[in-house]
Amino acid sequence: MSKQAELERQLKKVSMEYRKFNAEQQEFAIKEIGRIRLEIIDMLSEYSGSDGTIKKQRLNKLLRELESIEKLVRDTGMDALSQVISETASFTNDGIKKSLSDVVGAAAISGVAFDKINKNVLRYMVNRLGADDLVLSDRVWNFAGDQRAELTKVIRSGIIRGDSVNTISANVRKVYDNDAWKIRRLVVTEGNTAHRVATAYSAQQSQVVKAVRVHRGKANRPDHRCTQLELEDRYGMGPGLYKPTDSEIYMMHINCTGYLTYEIDPKYL
Ligand SMILES: [Zn+2]
Repeated sequence: MSKQAELERQLKKVSMEYRKFNAEQQEFAIKEIGRIRLEIIDMLSEYSGSDGTIKKQRLNKLLRELESIEKLVRDTGMDALSQVISETASFTNDGIKKSLSDVVGAAAISGVAFDKINKNVLRYMVNRLGADDLVLSDRVWNFAGDQRAELTKVIRSGIIRGDSVNTISANVRKVYDNDAWKIRRLVVTEGNTAHRVATAYSAQQSQVVKAVRVHRGKANRPDHRCTQLELEDRYGMGPGLYKPTDSEIYMMHINCTGYLTYEIDPKYL
C-alpha cells in the first residue's frame, strides 16, 4: 500500500473512531442537561400541598422560578458543549499526530503546535457564525428558552387541571425526553465541525500536507453540501480537494458527519 493510501486509511479510522466518541458525547450532554430535571421535581414538591397538588395561587410564583432553571440550562449546556469541543480537538489531533508520524515521519509534525491548535479550535467554535446568523451560545440559549416555554406549558396546565405533582413531574420528564434529539443535533453538528476544524488547522501547519480531501457524511444524499463538495473539482487538483483554509469545508450542513483526510506533497512520499 502506498504511503498516501496508508495515511488515508489511518485518518479515516480516526474519523470513524470519532463518530463513536461523538455518540458518547451526545449521551454525556443529554445526561448533564437532564440532571436539571431533578431540580424542577424538587421545586414542584416544595410547592405541593398535603394533598399532592399545587394551589393555583402559587402558579405564578412557581413559573417565575423557571427563570433560574433556564439560566442553569444555558450554563450547563455551554459547559457541556465546550467540553465536547475541547475533547474532540484533543481526540482528533492525537490521532492525526500518530498517523502522520507513523506514515510520513517526524517531518510531518515538526513545527505543528497541537496544544495551541486545540485552544484555537475552541475559540473558532465559540465564535463561529452559522448560516443561521447565530453563535454557539445563541443556539444554547434558544434551546434553553424553548425548553422553558415547554415546561411552563405543562406545569401551568397541570396545576390548572389540579393534576398531582407526580403527574406533572411525568409530563416534565416528557419535555426532557422530547428535547433529547435537539441536544443530539447540537453535539453532532458542533462536535463534527470541531473535528474537521482540528483536522484543517493541523493541515495548515504541517509542511507535508498539500490539500485536504472532503469525504461526505454517511447520509450520502446528492442534496447534501458534503456530497457536492466531495465531487467538485474546485482547483483542478481533483474532485474533493480543497485548501485547509477553505472554511466552507469545516461546516457543510447541520448534522454533517463528513470528514477530511490529507493529500501529501509528493516530495515527502
Ligand atoms: Zn454531510
